[in-house]
Amino acid sequence: MKIWFLSAEADPFIKVGGLGDVAGTLPPVLRRLGYPPGSPGGLDVRLVLPLHGGIDKQAYRLKPVAAMEIYHARGPMLAEAYQTEIEGLPVYLIAGPMIPEDGPVYTGDAGIDGPKFVFFSLAALELARSLDWKPDVLHANDWHTAAAVYALVSKRGLDLFFQETVTLLEVHNLPYLGAGTGSALQAFGLPPGTGTDLPEWAQNMPLPLGLQTADHIVTVSPGYAGEILTPEFGSGLHDFLATRSGSISGILNGLDLVSWDPTRDPHLPVNYSRADLKVRLENKSALQAELGLPLRKDLPLLGMITRMDHQKGVDLALDALAGLDDMAWQAVILGTGDPDLERAAEQLDAASGQVRAVLRFDPGLARRIYGGADALLIPSRYEPCGLAQMIAMRYGNVPIARATGGLKDTIRDYHETSAGTGFLFSEPNAQALEATIRRALNIFGDKRRWQGLQRRGMQQDFSWERSAQQYLELYEGLIAANRGQA
Ligand code: ADP
Repeated sequence: MKIWFLSAEADPFIKVGGLGDVAGTLPPVLRRLGYPPGSPGGLDVRLVLPLHGGIDKQAYRLKPVAAMEIYHARGPMLAEAYQTEIEGLPVYLIAGPMIPEDGPVYTGDAGIDGPKFVFFSLAALELARSLDWKPDVLHANDWHTAAAVYALVSKRGLDLFFQETVTLLEVHNLPYLGAGTGSALQAFGLPPGTGTDLPEWAQNMPLPLGLQTADHIVTVSPGYAGEILTPEFGSGLHDFLATRSGSISGILNGLDLVSWDPTRDPHLPVNYSRADLKVRLENKSALQAELGLPLRKDLPLLGMITRMDHQKGVDLALDALAGLDDMAWQAVILGTGDPDLERAAEQLDAASGQVRAVLRFDPGLARRIYGGADALLIPSRYEPCGLAQMIAMRYGNVPIARATGGLKDTIRDYHETSAGTGFLFSEPNAQALEATIRRALNIFGDKRRWQGLQRRGMQQDFSWERSAQQYLELYEGLIAANRGQA
């Protein structure tokens, strides 16, 4: 089984967000999944990335393997591919005139990012042809590589090379549609998708075109797969996506269980396991000292670790905490991003003796919060999958989260009668969050119950192996269905 995995970013080459985690972890795990590498009938995954300026070229032995001409209205453009390897996984990096040798992975400027990722998508297809490596599955991710799906499916009837390739488009974050990329699509010979079920405004955007043409669509959680069919989460495409609902499913992302392990995390003052949760209190005291909070083991310490973004409901958390000033607790908010939200967090820090706002990106402090605070606030307006709640549970930190997307799929709400792993609320407003924090604070007073919540969270299986097995089954099913049709 040959899988051609395209991504804009992948750890450890270059990582900006969750997509980088998935693309850096899933392909090597898939490759290890019970198939001896290179064995006949085995699984051969290969990863293709743009050779971004930020990638350390010296760190990887880059071997030139192919040069391809890519059609452009102003004349052909040369794409060059280099090969390297990581944990036995073949990785191809593509360079060319549209992939700047400096600058970030995403500039946010469609005039730069549009041509860059359309060029990359087409070059990745031509690279497979140039290597004479016929993929059984093209696995593209988000808007950046959705044009590869669109191009492949548009040409599949006439193009013998890709005739048997099935296309899978994975959605990590629906609202990023690739708006403003229409002129780049056309310049590279990809016409708008007129005469389709797509709304007119979306007919020249890469993600909608990919969603329209992909043989299958997978989201990063089963919950999000259902939500994108609704007006609240569908980014204006819900009616169109409903026409494709039979071909949409969700698979939860996994967590890197080696990196996120409270029994050996070097950033924690003390390591602990499910069996010795008492030791964890030393981390709480150390965290209180680090933040200049009173050393009170009896007070609940709430954490929040997040990009400061409207999506993450930072404003809801700040309002809810402000409303809880009749109770005794402590809170730490670690995050950077939107200046208005940063300022609001600072203001709450100044106004309330119970809140500390730390406005920076600090992976070490994040780990000390996961391993020292009692509960983590995750009031996201939408959450395709989310890692923070999985890390929190693994660290015995109880999530208080909005019941949406991957949060709803991974956290079981605590009730008197149910063995929960956290606290969930439905409506995206500060009142609902405040009421849920009150519910959690009441249970916190009952040590036996609270420890039950912690222990059950720490027992959950968030391994990548579990996710990879589901991708494998999805690939097998798609290939079998395709062969059945042929
Ligand atoms: P998203 O990818 O949408 O930002 P996730 O919950 O999937 O949200 O992943 C966020 C990751 O980034 C988590 O590992 C979290 O710990 C980390 N993170 C977010 N903000 C910070 C910060 N200010 N400092 C350190 N780590 C952070």
